[in-house]
Formats: sequence, C-alpha cells, structure tokens
Amino acid sequence: AQARYISIRDKPAVTLDGHRISLVMNAGLMADLPSLEGSGAEGVGLFRTELQFLVRNKMPKRSELVALYARVLDAAQGKRVVFRTLDIGSDKVLPYMKPTDEPNPALGWRAIRVGLDKPGVMRMQLQALIRAANGRPLTIMFPFVAQAEEYRQARAEVNKTIEREKILGHPLPEKLEIGAMLETPSLAFAPQKFFDEVDFLSIGGNDLKQFFFAADRENERVRRRYDTLNCSFLSFIERIVERCDQSGTQLSFCGEDAGRPVEAACFAAMGIRILSMRPASIGPVKSLLLRTDLGELRKIITDGRHRGVQTVRPAVMEWFGSHA
Ligand code: PEP
Ligand code: MG
Repeated sequence: AQARYISIRDKPAVTLDGHRISLVMNAGLMADLPSLEGSGAEGVGLFRTELQFLVRNKMPKRSELVALYARVLDAAQGKRVVFRTLDIGSDKVLPYMKPTDEPNPALGWRAIRVGLDKPGVMRMQLQALIRAANGRPLTIMFPFVAQAEEYRQARAEVNKTIEREKILGHPLPEKLEIGAMLETPSLAFAPQKFFDEVDFLSIGGNDLKQFFFAADRENERVRRRYDTLNCSFLSFIERIVERCDQSGTQLSFCGEDAGRPVEAACFAAMGIRILSMRPASIGPVKSLLLRTDLGELRKIITDGRHRGVQTVRPAVMEWFGSHA
C-alpha cells in the first residue's frame, strides 16, 4: 500500500485551492526515526518522550537522555522536532515509580501536574534536551496544560534551566520555542494574553475529544460513541483556530484523528495548517489533500452546521464521493 504514495512522498501537500498543509509525524522511540525519511514527513510534530521511560525498568540517567535526544536531532537533520515533556500518569504508569492510587487517573495527577509538583525529573529532562541540542534549535512542548499559569510556571523552569546551563558553560539553543498542548477544553478559554505569550499550541485530539464529550478514550463501550466530525466538536475547533489566528499563534493538531484522511481534510478546512500523525498516515492524508478544495469542503461543513445535523460526516463523505 505504501508504494502507492512514493510518487508523492517529496511533494508538498498543497490543496486544489492552494493551501499549503504541513504534514509532520508522531514518534517516540528510536525505531521511529527512519520513518522521517521514508514517509516524507516535514519534521516531528510530537515526540512522546515518555515512551523511552516506559520501555525501561529503571529511571534513565541524564547522560542517557542527552545521548537519546541528540540522536533524535541528528536523525532529523535540521527538521523541527517537537519534544513533548514527560506525559506520565493516567494510562502511562512508570513501573519504577510509586503508583498513585487514584479513582480517576485520566483526571488525576499526570503530565505537567507531576512535572510542576515534583520538578526533579522534569528539570533533568529539560537539562538533557538543552544539552542534546548543543546549540541547535530546540522545541519543547508541555502536555496537559489546563490553565495559563501552568504554562508560565513550566516556561519559568525552562528559563531557569537555561540560566544554569549558561553558567556551566554549555552552549544554549540557537532558537528556543516553548509550546503547550491544548488537550483540556479549559485552555481554549484562557485569557488572550496566554495566546499572545505561548510560542505555539498543538491540539491533542485524543484527550481533547475525551474531555469534550466526557467519554473515556480507553473505554471500548464509549470511545467511538461521539464522532470527531460532530458539529459541536468542529465548532470548538473553529473557536480555537480563531483565537490562534487573532494572536498569530502557530496551531497544529496531533492525535490519531490527524492521521485519518477525511478528518485531516476537515481540520485543514477549519483552518489548521499543521497536522501530526503516525508516519504511515502521511501518504494517505497527503493524497486526499492534493485532491481537495478546502474552501468547498468548508462550505459543506458550514452548511451541515446550519442545517443542525449532529455530525457532518454523511454530507462530507457524499461530497468526497463526487469531488475528490
Ligand atoms: C493526544 O492526547 O491527542 C495526544 C497526542 O497525546 P497522547 O495520545 O499521547 O495522550
Ligand atoms: Mg494527550
């Protein structure tokens, strides 16, 4: 199946009406790196750093992390890599950390909440990232930010680490971007000041959808109950795009839906210009985008919303059947 996409691998994803969509990949293990070349990804939009913590039986040392991250940046050959800091807790439990007994782990002490409350590991990770960059550009993203203040605190941690590294004589990143994942609905309603100060945002669709519909992403009984092309969810996405446009904030979408061609095209039609997905999805998503007029697709979506349908999927599928 992948052979079909080789001819478009090095082509940019430009839609029929001339919108350039950047397709980047999700990664987390060394084994993912060869896909950077093979898939035609323009970079890594989400590097899930916790995976390297999860495959071990003890906490990795800082020096090991420096070596790992340096290899990732070497493999990327100057392409942008978005390193997401540890996203543990909930479904991702480190075997060598004391388990927390929480009634609702998905709503519990996880990700940036752990990083801010017990900053030891996060500091080590930030230091390792700065050392691995060794003067190259560095992009860091914090998961599960629910309010602006959490982002500010995390950003202050990065700045403190930078200061320390400077005193120790380590080279500092030539360019440093610090972003946040938008995966809790509350962050979409943060003060405008937050949108102005954050370097970029990435919608974590898996969690955002789970919290938007209050439907556990791990629970087979409910996880497919609500459609991603549900009009309420799309109007929420629209609101996020508008807020980012107002402040000129870069916005991407990571999460499994970005790798589904129809969903990806709809997100692009809603104004999202960077999509991060598993490498094998890049070909199929690009192939559909090349055949899509986003303006026309947007009209189909808007029309469905005006008619008051629950999901625009049937209308979108019918339109694709005759237009792409
Ligand atoms: C997400 O929530 O959409 C996401 C990309 O992060 P993860 O799937 O690792 O929670
Ligand atoms: Mg998530």
